[in-house]
Amino acid sequence: MRNLKFGATAAALFAVAVTALPAGAETTVLSNVTVIDGTGKPAAPASAIVMTDGKIAWVGPMAQLKAPAGATTRDLSGKFVMPGIIDGHVHVGMMKDVTQDVKFYDRANVEADLKTYAAYGVTTVQVAGTDKDVIFDIRKDLRAGRPSMARVYTSGQGLVFKGGYGGLYGLNVPVGTPEEARKAVAEQAAKGVDFIKIWMDDERRMIPVKMTYEVSKAAIDEAHKRKLKVMAHVYYLDDAKELVRQGVDGFGHIVRDQDVDKELMDMMKAKGTWQMSSTLSREIVYSMAVMPWINDPFFTRGVTPGTMSALRSPEREKAVMLGAIRFPGLPYEKRLFADMGRTVVQAMDNYTAMVKTGVETGMGTDSGPNGRFPGFNAHEELQMEVMAGRTPLEAIKSATSDNAAWLGDKTIGSIEAGKWADLLVMDDDPLADIRNTKSISAVYIAGSSVPTIWQTCRDRPSTACTGTWKDRSPTPY
Ligand SMILES: [Zn+2]
Repeated sequence: MRNLKFGATAAALFAVAVTALPAGAETTVLSNVTVIDGTGKPAAPASAIVMTDGKIAWVGPMAQLKAPAGATTRDLSGKFVMPGIIDGHVHVGMMKDVTQDVKFYDRANVEADLKTYAAYGVTTVQVAGTDKDVIFDIRKDLRAGRPSMARVYTSGQGLVFKGGYGGLYGLNVPVGTPEEARKAVAEQAAKGVDFIKIWMDDERRMIPVKMTYEVSKAAIDEAHKRKLKVMAHVYYLDDAKELVRQGVDGFGHIVRDQDVDKELMDMMKAKGTWQMSSTLSREIVYSMAVMPWINDPFFTRGVTPGTMSALRSPEREKAVMLGAIRFPGLPYEKRLFADMGRTVVQAMDNYTAMVKTGVETGMGTDSGPNGRFPGFNAHEELQMEVMAGRTPLEAIKSATSDNAAWLGDKTIGSIEAGKWADLLVMDDDPLADIRNTKSISAVYIAGSSVPTIWQTCRDRPSTACTGTWKDRSPTPY
């Protein structure tokens, strides 16, 4: 039954599903479920999904289901299923409670984050330029079999300009010249990165240097020679335009200094440049002295007790009111975020314009660093996409099949025969209210269920945590 491998036609897979199971195959049928397949097609009620050896073997109406002998059936009456979320912009392994430091990055800490992502239904993450080399071992193991935590795409160590903004302090080796940029790209390519990340920003004119266009051009050219896409951190409209001219493949943040204009969006459409991650949820956290979800069990279950007490402290509130303070370990300190409220609005307006104009858009949060929470922020991001004018169906598509298209990964991102069975099962309908993506009933990665956020708690036994979906914060945010 070798044709069960990925790449087999849907017809062949269907034939397998309705006739007999291959010897030793493990098949599970999810029955009576409403399928939101991630492609943008309307929801299909009264559906079934047949999962064999971790892949989707068949999906269709209950009336046409012919469950193979020996299959396990799970009745999901009343429930909804969508593809596992793909977060196109994260960082992993860098935090201990609310302290960010390269010294915390190790395999155990990365895997703890990947499990937290999975618990929130985020089944794939793209890490944007702050990985140590152990990520390649982790990725190899995840790709070798059927993972029990989020899948990983990595850009290794992204390119930070000498003396400039970006990266994880103590990890990224800065580049100052086109030659150094080419060498850095070659080094990352040799390690087997999935893409190249560059930072072009000056932290709102707080740092007197910014990656030059010569350096970004060299990095992009060298990456393209090696068939690697380039994802850029941007802030300014003018930089975004120049990077598009240079052939950058995607933006990891949306332009936030001013309105995006027709020239930028026309160029992006003509060149196929992606707004692959808009990080709206990143912008909003900076503007909040008190996080409105601070007591919501959907949030508290996913962060460490140390994080909780730091976030609840009056000192933090005061610090945010005064303007955020940079993390220890950086070579400078600043208090700057006083106008973040404006930035959030600018980010959302620009996202709306991009979507309306038809620029390719994915979903990404920039979660992982201090104040942006693995998994949790993906659900916030979906909400903000809807607040910026998308339908819930479109928001879900952006975080699933669109992100898979950005990654160039044909094995994930939709509920279709032949794909990995990476699934998020919900009690309530996310198309009726996007916040219902939080009503997580089960998460499957490669056909196996993993503990959900309602079954686990970060860094403590699940018995130490209280609260269910029914106990969520009554305040809409
Ligand atoms: Zn980032």
